[in-house]
Amino acid sequence: MDTLNIFLTGGLDSSYSVLYYSRYEINIQPIYLKDKRASEQFELKAINDILEYVKNDSRTRAVILPLIIDETDRIAKNNKITDAYYRITSKLKLGRQYDWLQRYAVEHGHEGILISATNSPEGKVKKVVLKYGALKKQQENGYEFYKVDTEKSHKDLNTLFGNIMFSVTWDMTKQEEIKDLHEKGLDEAVKMIWFCFTPVDGKPCGCCNPCKSYFEENLLDFFDEASKKRYELTKNCERPTDYELCGVCDNCRKRIENGDTAQFSEAALARYKEYKSLPEWRYKLRDMKARILRK
Ligand SMILES: [Zn+2]
Ligand SMILES: [Zn+2]
Repeated sequence: MDTLNIFLTGGLDSSYSVLYYSRYEINIQPIYLKDKRASEQFELKAINDILEYVKNDSRTRAVILPLIIDETDRIAKNNKITDAYYRITSKLKLGRQYDWLQRYAVEHGHEGILISATNSPEGKVKKVVLKYGALKKQQENGYEFYKVDTEKSHKDLNTLFGNIMFSVTWDMTKQEEIKDLHEKGLDEAVKMIWFCFTPVDGKPCGCCNPCKSYFEENLLDFFDEASKKRYELTKNCERPTDYELCGVCDNCRKRIENGDTAQFSEAALARYKEYKSLPEWRYKLRDMKARILRK
């Protein structure tokens, strides 16, 4: 039986993939990579709950293998991949994980590890793929996925995504995933997902990048009133700090310099002053962000 390696995060997209591919007669090897996120325990709980749910679902045809947990820091270095990543990200934004996902796949000799990028309006992977080449649909034992079309793609895209399989979510928005799960009677599983990097009182924060993307796709059911307020306050801030406007990103500075300071906390205004007085603000800010993520 085929083994499909699937990267899981606990979020909607990768959970959708597990639920989707579990209907085929294959082995599913779930993989989770720890990256020192404050949300790790929430992500692992979501993953374990969803895998249990799939195992107990009578419609499941796949064999679900025990979850592999590894750490991003431990993945073998591979300059060829990392250099390609940096060449691409000098032109377009793309999360750090796309460097280590490919390095992980190559290190373990996997011809393909499935990731669950989507067709979301702000999808960074989509923009990179469209600029540097194309994907082509493939089929194995009845199930579909995508891989980089090596003939039509730039060598950096082939290097960065050569061992990556793209889930059927490639053609879907998050709303479409939710709709499909609802139609298949899988609402119970939707309640188990987790996506926020910096939870507040055990709930999604409304300020981190994943929270923002769920808001942008109008998935409001995942948020309470407090997180909706935090989202409204910080949506134009590039790096909210302590769930507030940061005071130092381009957007925040512009607002402060225009005298629009009403929504900034004392701490944010102090950070602005510090930024203005420090040439090495980039390092300071990175340090600040790291401290928040460690909390
Ligand atoms: Zn969040
Ligand atoms: Zn800001």
